[in-house]
Order: sequence, then structure tokens, then C-alpha cells
Amino acid sequence: MISLVAPAYNEAKNLVAFVEAVTVVLDGIGEPWEIVFVDDGSKDDTLGMLLAARANDPRIKVVSLARNFGKDVALTAGLHHARGRAVIPIDCDLQHPPELIAQMVARWRAGADMVIGVRSKRTEEGFFRRTASSWYYGLMRRMTNVAIPPNAGDFRLLDRKIVEVINEMPERTRFMKGIFAWPGFKTESIEFQANVRAGGKTTWSPFKLWRFALDGLFSFSTVPLKIWTYIGGAAALGAFVYLMITLIQKLFFGIDAEGYASLLIVMLGFNGLLLLSNGIQGEYIARIFDEVKGRPLFVVGKKWGFDEPSVHVGSAAQSAEASRDVAS
Ligand code: UDP
Ligand code: MG
Repeated sequence: MISLVAPAYNEAKNLVAFVEAVTVVLDGIGEPWEIVFVDDGSKDDTLGMLLAARANDPRIKVVSLARNFGKDVALTAGLHHARGRAVIPIDCDLQHPPELIAQMVARWRAGADMVIGVRSKRTEEGFFRRTASSWYYGLMRRMTNVAIPPNAGDFRLLDRKIVEVINEMPERTRFMKGIFAWPGFKTESIEFQANVRAGGKTTWSPFKLWRFALDGLFSFSTVPLKIWTYIGGAAALGAFVYLMITLIQKLFFGIDAEGYASLLIVMLGFNGLLLLSNGIQGEYIARIFDEVKGRPLFVVGKKWGFDEPSVHVGSAAQSAEASRDVAS
């Protein structure tokens, strides 16, 4: 079976077209399939439309989260519920061309474990966002040891074994690009041209993108934390050299040390660096705090099309362990 996992937040305008387009493609593949929609606490009629679609076609299954958890968590919830041998996350705003699914499945049948949809030309985005994104992935490549392919989003095919690994990854910061890349296995990619959003609007603001970029960096790299050893060392060394120069000037040449301006610059500069390093430690401490709480990743309000009881709290490996401890 092939599973599509589609997170949906306020997508009422797009759902009919999406279901139609995707059904045609899936029927053409000639394998049993399911679509797992995750309603991410939508404020519009998304859930109603999903249930109507399910009434038409029981291969459409619906997980309704108790509130808006954000796209990455919604996707995680979908991956937990998908049952296919191959699982394909896809956006339901029609930015991901459904035709590509058939090609992905062909590659998977030929032996690939993951087939990534890579955006070829990102002309639907502005120059600034494209440049920022390419710098960012360059930085990520150097600072982390997972190879995160640039221009790759969530649209990809995952073999069952990769989904099982991802379902075992309990981290609360769901930086999916990194999480997808982490398990490894035989990975191929197919280029595609993303469409502009069919209807409605994206929920990304520049500040959210910035936070997202930091999330990726801080959750997959400890370089920003460790680099301060070297910055601090270099600063201390610089101060020592300056001290020696000043001493020699005073003792042998009678030159007085320069005063006020240099003092102020050094003080302000280093206080700035100290605050910055504190802030970066804070980023990691906040993440440790989030992880340590060990809350479930998502809460399912209700679901349709699954055999388990209808009220279910999403659990990652960690919280399952915690509840076993309580029981024993
Ligand atoms: N989405 C979601 N929860 C959210 C925001 C978005 O499930 O809080 C879904 C949305 O319905 C869509 C997908 O995630 O199917 C991608 O969202 P969007 O188009 O806003 O992001 P972009 O394509 O700009 O990355
Ligand atoms: Mg979109």
C-alpha cells in the first residue's frame, strides 16, 4: 500500500481540487493506497470537507489534532498513522505536483528507499529568499554531520523502514528536513518545479522563517555552542599580547597607554560578545527544557478510518518508556 500524508491547515479552498488531482494519479499507479489527512486545528471548514471526501472514498482517512500544532508536528502525526509500505508527505495547497508521485513510486520500485522531490528553479520565490536559503544550506552543510540536500522540502517518498526510524525520533523540535535526512538509506532525487499556492495564503512570515532557520541549526549542530571556547581563547590571547605591548611601551619607551576611547570600545565589544554567547547558550537550554518535559508531540482530538480507539495521545518512544516506568 502507498500512503499519502497531507497536513492541512485552513485549506478548505484547495481540498476538492487536491483530492481530485491526487486520486487520478494514485489510481493510475495500480496499488492499494490511502490518504492520511491531518487537520491541524483549522479554523475554516477544512475538517468538514475532509469528512465529506471520506464519505465519498473510504481510502481517505482523517486525523484531527486537538489544536494547531504547526506543520511539522502535523506531518509527524500523519507519519505515525500512515500504514503504507511507501509513505509520501505532500502539501495540500497544490504546490507539490501530484504527477511526480508516479515517478517517485517507479524509483522506489527500482530499489530507492527515499526519493526526494528537489525544486529545480525557485522562480516562484523572491531573489532574497532564494539567496538566503542557499547560504543557509551551505552553512548547515559545514556545521552539521547530516547531509541536508538544498532545495528539498517535505515532498518525498519514504520507504517503510525510514518511517519507522522517524517515528522513533522523539525530539520536540521537528526540523523535518534534518529528521528526514538523519536515518540515511539509499536516497535518490527527482527535480520538479513547485507551483504557486492554489488558494489561501502561506503562514510563513519573515520572522518565522528566521526562527525556523535557527531551529535547524541549533537542533542539528553544537558548533554554535562550542565555538565560544575558541572566541574566548582568542580574545584572552589578544588581551595578553596587548598587555605585553603596553608594558614594554611604558617601561622602555615611557609611552603612556591610551585611555578612554579604546577602553570603551573593548568593553562594549566584549560585553556584546558575552551577551551573544549567553543568548546562544539560552537557545540550547530552552531546547533542553522542552525535551526534558517530555510532553507528547501532538494530541489527536478525533480520527476517522483507523482501528484504534478514537481518542489517542500521540506518543514518541520516550513518553512510552516513561509510562512503562510508572506502570512497573
Ligand atoms: N500547514 C499545517 N499547519 C500549519 C501551517 C501549514 O498543517 O500550522 C500545512 C498547510 O495546510 C499545507 C502545508 O502545511 O498543506 C504547507 O503550508 P504552507 O503552504 O503554508 O507552507 P509553504 O508551502 O509556504 O512552505
Ligand atoms: Mg505551500
